[in-house]
Amino acid sequence: MAGILFIISAPSGSGKSTLVSQLRTLVEGLDFSISYTTRSPRGSEENGREYYFTTREEFERMVAGGDFLEWAEVFGNYYGTAVSALRHAKELGRDLLLDIDVQGALQVMRKMPEAVSIFILPPSPEVLEKRLKNRSAAEKMTDEDVIQKRLDGAKHELDKVWDYKYALVNDVLENAVAEMRAVVLYERGDQDCEALARTCSTDSASPRLKAVLEAFEE
Ligand code: ADP
Ligand code: 5GP
Repeated sequence: MAGILFIISAPSGSGKSTLVSQLRTLVEGLDFSISYTTRSPRGSEENGREYYFTTREEFERMVAGGDFLEWAEVFGNYYGTAVSALRHAKELGRDLLLDIDVQGALQVMRKMPEAVSIFILPPSPEVLEKRLKNRSAAEKMTDEDVIQKRLDGAKHELDKVWDYKYALVNDVLENAVAEMRAVVLYERGDQDCEALARTCSTDSASPRLKAVLEAFEE
């Protein structure tokens, strides 16, 4: 595609949605791919804005029809990126951002090695738990089982961080937004952002990244 394909993954509750929405107010020309999902809308989510909410039958029909660039089952629900989202961004020559889980990200990396992958980490398991609980309370959905499943899932997802080109820790929100902006602009060719973007490269295996991974090992 003419534009750049950005893949963003993070354990649920890391603050990916928060980061991405702030990023999009700072960076022009970044389209967001709206995924299909079989899960129910949460909080103030609207069909066609955060997701296209669909049934399992319809999703399976789309899988059989080859409508997805990638798809995966996450926490008991299907999620998928429509091929048409990619086609549309390509036609417009715009950058496209995919917010997808690690299973889907690995599928896209294999199909499109030129994609730029970014992994967002929470600063620690304790902070992740707190954020998941805060969000659930705000959305009046305090199912402990769901929260526990997401916490357990986080550890497995973090194992895949080295497959990504960049990794950033969402501790202080402003800093994480600045890092993400730097990565996007650097990938677009802005050399002024090189220094900050390079600190987020997984090749640099920063002590900060290692410290977060160790905290999740304990
Ligand atoms: P995700 O999209 O990764 O599942 P959200 O963006 O919904 O996560 O964030 C989960 C919760 O954490 C929300 O309540 C959000 O306001 C909060 N949050 C996100 N980033 C930060 C941050 N850097 N510091 C403190 N709270 C944050
Ligand atoms: P949530 O239900 O919290 O919105 O998302 C749960 C997980 O599904 C997140 O890790 C999110 O990135 C992932 N996800 C959202 N859309 C897609 C998609 O189209 N494909 C894949 N593989 N994962 C997705």
